[in-house]
Amino acid sequence: MNILLLGSGGREDALAWRLKQSPSCDRLVAAPGNPGIARWAECLPVDPCNAGAVLDLATTIGADLVVVGPEAPLVAGVADALRAQGFLVFGPDAAAAQLEGSKGFTKDLCARVGIPTARYVRIETEGDALAALDGFAIPVVIKADGLAAGKGVTVAMSRNEAESAIRAAGDGPMVIEEFLEGEEASLFALVDGERAVVLASAQDHKRVGEGDTGPNTGGMGAYSPAPVLTRGLEQRAMDEIILPTARAMAAAGTPFSGVLYAGLMLTPEGPKLIEYNVRFGDPECEAIMPRIIGDFAGLLRDVASGHDFEPPVLSTEASMTVVIAARGYPGDPAAGGEIAGIEEAEAVDGVTVFQAGTRSDLGRLVANGGRVLAVTAVGANLATARERVYRAVDRISFADGFCRRDIGWRELERQA
Ligand code: ATP
Repeated sequence: MNILLLGSGGREDALAWRLKQSPSCDRLVAAPGNPGIARWAECLPVDPCNAGAVLDLATTIGADLVVVGPEAPLVAGVADALRAQGFLVFGPDAAAAQLEGSKGFTKDLCARVGIPTARYVRIETEGDALAALDGFAIPVVIKADGLAAGKGVTVAMSRNEAESAIRAAGDGPMVIEEFLEGEEASLFALVDGERAVVLASAQDHKRVGEGDTGPNTGGMGAYSPAPVLTRGLEQRAMDEIILPTARAMAAAGTPFSGVLYAGLMLTPEGPKLIEYNVRFGDPECEAIMPRIIGDFAGLLRDVASGHDFEPPVLSTEASMTVVIAARGYPGDPAAGGEIAGIEEAEAVDGVTVFQAGTRSDLGRLVANGGRVLAVTAVGANLATARERVYRAVDRISFADGFCRRDIGWRELERQA
């Protein structure tokens, strides 16, 4: 197959790495890609959100399959445009991408079909939002609707904080919801219409600081599997959350196709849905890809084409990803810092260094974004993966970079 991969982050580097190893992948082209992805794919400077340009590229290379990495092209309808021209696409149409693009849409779907989630109200104005606070205990969660790259959510620990968040957001669509107590875990399922199978579980660390403190980021590290999501809880999440969602989307005439990523809160009453994403998580994808066994490209093709697909096979090994970010992230990251030592890091057993925000500059590799590298290791268990990943991190020289040294701490404490 000729495969076109859209995107340019660490997630896409991991997808490219895994796709390129697949027996059914003959040619891999990435748009626009990055220097890490260029190790596995031909990278071409095409904007993945520009449907016309993507169509031209898919036509030129005779793409048998287009794999969409990030959410923005999906929400913008790039998959629709490709399908309309007969291309096979891994990733949902815009109508199904609303599961990520609109929190209100997803909350209403949950209410309609009885999917466990936090009690909520949808609000349109600042005044109504302030009034609606009376119906909720503190802490309370305020969410701006629409794609906000993780920055539209406030978990307010006081009434004052809730009111400030509402005033800061101003008029506009918003969801106010009950605070759920528990531990978070992510479940990734492959979905085609009414069918859904588990791909993998993972947990990530969103806060920039050790001990899960400080501002939210896109994610500072992740590991897979997430043992806290036991077989039993995973089955409940499939039966009570993912499958009813797939059926409801199909019944509404907007079937979902691709990977559905459920952010779950494991509450005392069982798993509840916090949010959906309609693509792989970043950095969870980097942690999951090394665990997948077999023809990954063939699997994505089968999901995309509506063929029967076998549940994916994953190694029983554990995997851990540590993100190295540029100083200043998540605020104003320092650009241009020189990076070296990737080869030395990859000489550690089980390690791959995926690149997120990098750029080639006269033969040097330099930082070009907030999250710069996603160093990943597999091992027989999480402790081994951890030991390997930090040994690799220590071989990388990037003066302007930093990482958290405690990825996986909660699970490692449980296992110790
Ligand atoms: P991202 O895509 O980065 O996860 P987002 O903007 O889509 O963020 P959510 O995932 O809905 O927003 O919320 C972000 C975080 O806020 C969650 O990961 C969770 O830690 C917390 N959160 C959201 N809703 C609740 C809730 N009802 N109870 C407790 N915590 C919540």
